This record gives sequence, C-alpha cells and structure tokens, in this order.
Amino acid sequence: MRTAIYPGSFDPVTFGHLDIIQRASHVMDHLIVGVLNNNSKSPLFSVEERVKMLKEVTAHLPNVEVQSFGGLLVDFAVQSKASVIIRGLRAITDFEYELQMSQTNRKIAPNVDTIFFTTNLKYAYLSSSIVKEVAMFGGNIDEFVPPMIAQYVRDKFEQKQ
Ligand code: ADP
Repeated sequence: MRTAIYPGSFDPVTFGHLDIIQRASHVMDHLIVGVLNNNSKSPLFSVEERVKMLKEVTAHLPNVEVQSFGGLLVDFAVQSKASVIIRGLRAITDFEYELQMSQTNRKIAPNVDTIFFTTNLKYAYLSSSIVKEVAMFGGNIDEFVPPMIAQYVRDKFEQKQ
C-alpha cells in the first residue's frame, strides 16, 4: 500500500490544490492531505476550519484523508507510514524553495521521497493569498474555489468587519 502526504497551509483550499489532490489520489493508494498547524503564519482560518473545509471538498474521493500536523513534515510522514511527499509546482519561482526542501527532507528521512506535480495551466496563477486578497476587497472568487469554500471565505471577511 503506497501512502503519500500532500502538505500545505490550505488557507483556504483552492481549485489548484484540488487538482493536485485529485491527480495524486489516482496514482497513490492512499493520500493524506496534511494541514500545517502553523501559528506563525497567522492564517485566516484556524487549522480546524481548514481541515473541515478540505474534508468537505474531498468527501467524494474515497482514498483521501485529511489530518492536521505540526512539527517536522518528515516526522509526520514516517508516523503515517507514508513514503512519498506530494508538492505542486506552479512556476519557476516555486522551484528553488521546493528543491531545497525536498533535498533537506531526504537528508533527514532517506526513505521518504518527494514527487512534484506540475500545475494544471488553468490554475497556474492561483494561490490562497490571491483568493484572500480578492475576497478582502469584495471581489468575486467563484473562479478560484468551490462554492462552499467561497461562502466560508465571504462569511469570514464579514465577521472580521
Ligand atoms: P505552503 O504554505 O506549504 O506553500 P500552500 O497551501 O500554499 O502551502 O500550497 C500547498 C501545495 O500546493 C504547495 O506544494 C503548492 O506549490 C501547491 N499549490 C498551491 N497552489 C497551486 C496551484 N494553483 N497549482 C498547483 N499547485 C499548487
């Protein structure tokens, strides 16, 4: 059984993330979406909210599980018996950081390898930050996230006002 972890902040999950989740779930037996519990990034959504949203939008994918984690990603991978880390690459700007991270992770845990999925061109520009920036100024985010996530984002900005 080949298990992979797809880690990230997912603040919030976008169509770009979902595309990677769907594609990775086809090539792996079991995919764990790992939601990083990282307070230093001061996320818009709490880790519990991000996990809940991801569970809702991946409910139709039977081999996908969603969990939060803190600390070192490779420790979470080893605990979860995952041999693969999945990451998405949008542009060359992602590459340098991702290369360094994957090499560091391999140094710490030689049995865990990183597999990169190149972005679907439709979503190459898309990031959680862009979604938040557009939503903050009342813009339409329906092209960026599923309808239920768009509603959560709108509600969150309304609460903040
Ligand atoms: P992180 O804070 O770890 O970068 P993100 O939630 O921003 O977390 O991203 C998680 C992963 O998803 C990263 O590998 C990132 O490159 C990838 N990703 C994000 N948006 C897209 C997209 N539009 N297309 C492909 N991959 C993406």
